[in-house]
Amino acid sequence: MSDKIAVVCDFDGTITVRDIGHHFFESFVPDKVSWEELLEKWKIGLISSRECLEQEVASISATRDDLDEFIEDEKFDPYFKDFVDFSNRRKYDFLILSDGMDYYIEAMLMRFGFGYLEFRSNHLVFGSGGEIESVEFPFYGLSNGCTMCGNCKMFHLKQLKDKGFYTVYIGNGYSDRCASEHADLVFAKDDLLTHMRQKGLDHVEYRNFRDIERSLTEKFYISGQ
Ligand SMILES: [Zn+2]
Repeated sequence: MSDKIAVVCDFDGTITVRDIGHHFFESFVPDKVSWEELLEKWKIGLISSRECLEQEVASISATRDDLDEFIEDEKFDPYFKDFVDFSNRRKYDFLILSDGMDYYIEAMLMRFGFGYLEFRSNHLVFGSGGEIESVEFPFYGLSNGCTMCGNCKMFHLKQLKDKGFYTVYIGNGYSDRCASEHADLVFAKDDLLTHMRQKGLDHVEYRNFRDIERSLTEKFYISGQ
């Protein structure tokens, strides 16, 4: 096993308690029935997450202020800070990957004192009056063999593997499917857990970051990593 370890972590519903993107659209879409149909199409693979996100953004009229207000009460997993400290002590590389949007990820990382953590996501574009205008996909199509993600996490994960890292992946949802099939060790909960079980892929079930810290401590104790 490589002595270089990279922890790669989803944001919505993994670092945050709630899936912020999902709940934001749920609150702002004008027609919830069509929105749920759109999500269903994405979940079963009829449309990509890029198409899904583009349509969601196009359907809402909301502003930066609305989004700021929306995230005011959002929380991180209570053990996330301890886990980041643990990863820093162990000198693990730490990368956050999201198929959501950069604005609220950055705002929340800054608020909780994690502005130094690296993340890769899609880019939310605001108009001159602060209105949510569109979403851009700087990483779209970079992942060989995947046309289903806006920001395919597999692409970033494979870059780390190519650099010789042992990759630990942490996620909870549909957008974690691609990367989790290529990571060396996967921690899964919620929809990702169901996916890993259905596919018969190796994984460790977790509830929060304390479970992950315990599990990694146990796994790497003997090798001193
Ligand atoms: Zn993908």
